Amino acid sequence: MVMSRQCPKCGVSEGEKDFIGSFCIDCYLSMNMPTLPSKVTIYRCRECGSERYTSWSVPVEEAISHELKSRSFGVPEVWIDDAHVVVKFEKVGMEFRIPLKVKESLCNVCAQKSAGYYEAIIQLRGKYAHDRAFAEKLISELERITFIPKTEELKEGLDIYVGSKTATATILSALGFKLITSNKLYGVKHGRRVYRTTFLVRG
Ligand SMILES: [Zn+2]
Ligand SMILES: [Zn+2]
Repeated sequence: MVMSRQCPKCGVSEGEKDFIGSFCIDCYLSMNMPTLPSKVTIYRCRECGSERYTSWSVPVEEAISHELKSRSFGVPEVWIDDAHVVVKFEKVGMEFRIPLKVKESLCNVCAQKSAGYYEAIIQLRGKYAHDRAFAEKLISELERITFIPKTEELKEGLDIYVGSKTATATILSALGFKLITSNKLYGVKHGRRVYRTTFLVRG
């Protein structure tokens, strides 16, 4: 007669429960339980609604999952359910609900926007000077990746102020424009000269 294995912690026999290594599954899980926080705090931008756990550029669910992954429990699936964060460890079939606290904040982009920050000006001149349809198309393309703190209607055309120089160059190139630029020093920040770039768009 073969003696069946027994869990050294609770004494249950193999056959009554599943075993992982030399322990029964319940004892194994309780000994390897990941430490979960008693609550999770995230920040939500009051202007655009974007959220931050560790960074504004990483989705909060992904950041929380990364933080709570454990060797024995695996990488959890994480989602927000009203006032809770649900953390589901598929590998061991366990799910936890952690109270969620949301604090109001202002994301980097909205903070810069509200401070009137910009890096580039697009000058629409020549046949584009007063082409409203073109201006609207350009602005909506730009707003997908950066922000427009203001536009200025001038006699000679429209000036569009843009948050990001790189985004401006990317969009104008994508629309098939050759980049005609000029830089203007506007200050020194952290010992570095900071330039604003003007992009000329004319037909
Ligand atoms: Zn046991
Ligand atoms: Zn924002």
